[in-house]
Amino acid sequence: MILINQKMILHTQLRRVLYTLTASFAFFLFTIITTHAQVNVCATTSLVADLVNRIGGKHVHVHSLMGPGVDPHLYKATASDVTELNRCQIIFYNGLHLEGRMTDIFENLAKKGKTVIAVSDSIPKENLIKIPGAQDQFDPHIWFDPLLWQKCADVVRDSFSKADPSHEAAYTLNAHQVQTEIQDLFKWGKSLAQSLSPSKRILVTSHDAYNYFGKAFDFTVIGVQGVSTTSEAGLADIVSIIDFIKKNDIHAIFVESSVPHATIERISHDSGSKIGGELFSDALGAQNDIRQVGNQKFNVGTYSGMFKYNMATIIESLK
Ligand SMILES: [Zn+2]
Repeated sequence: MILINQKMILHTQLRRVLYTLTASFAFFLFTIITTHAQVNVCATTSLVADLVNRIGGKHVHVHSLMGPGVDPHLYKATASDVTELNRCQIIFYNGLHLEGRMTDIFENLAKKGKTVIAVSDSIPKENLIKIPGAQDQFDPHIWFDPLLWQKCADVVRDSFSKADPSHEAAYTLNAHQVQTEIQDLFKWGKSLAQSLSPSKRILVTSHDAYNYFGKAFDFTVIGVQGVSTTSEAGLADIVSIIDFIKKNDIHAIFVESSVPHATIERISHDSGSKIGGELFSDALGAQNDIRQVGNQKFNVGTYSGMFKYNMATIIESLK
């Protein structure tokens, strides 16, 4: 009897070990399969990467080319970027010449049959702001009108659904959630902007990144450097901006996280207008970078957090 019992115990232990091994192996296989099933995508700016990540969720792996503080107007792809771009199944970029020095690379990749998507293609031309004096060129800083930016979710959702139809329902749900969140962000921004008297709604920044913001939230917007940072501000421009600041009694002007601060600092010194803070323009902050305005905290590593931080900084400094 004792022998039988010992045999039974041994048998039970062996079964447990085998069961544990089988379960571990199944989990290992599941991990490999699910990891491999992810759609591998590239995104240029941190703003595009944030949108793509939110819609793709766990079904995609997003490689972002430009990190915090990087100026997309001046960015040139590195050798490792080109390797990564060739490896990615889909490439998402902003378009409208924001990534002005990467156009040739995108065209070559598209010719080779790679799926290359400009998220700004979702926006009807009549909603875009034309660049004065430039034929058929549009301002690329579309993310500063949340109602335009949420439209860009459409092309991201459709691209994922086409590349990975088995998860179409998840992409559709994620896109809907993101779009609702951004529409709410617009309403929040609108009511905060309206708390500032119209005469104080004048935004002076390093470069013309805020034209869509101005249109959406009724601000007069002055960018020292124009729509792209590729050309420097002229002396005459600087003198006329200083005059404008004095004439309109503007309390604060703003530096940007992805543009050198020197010109705005000089204008601040010569006009007597204080620097109201550092706004995010063409790049998000680092992941989980928390910034405070008054007693409110914002995660500027996300689109919503960055937008709210900018808006709160502007209102707080200009009121
Ligand atoms: Zn810009």
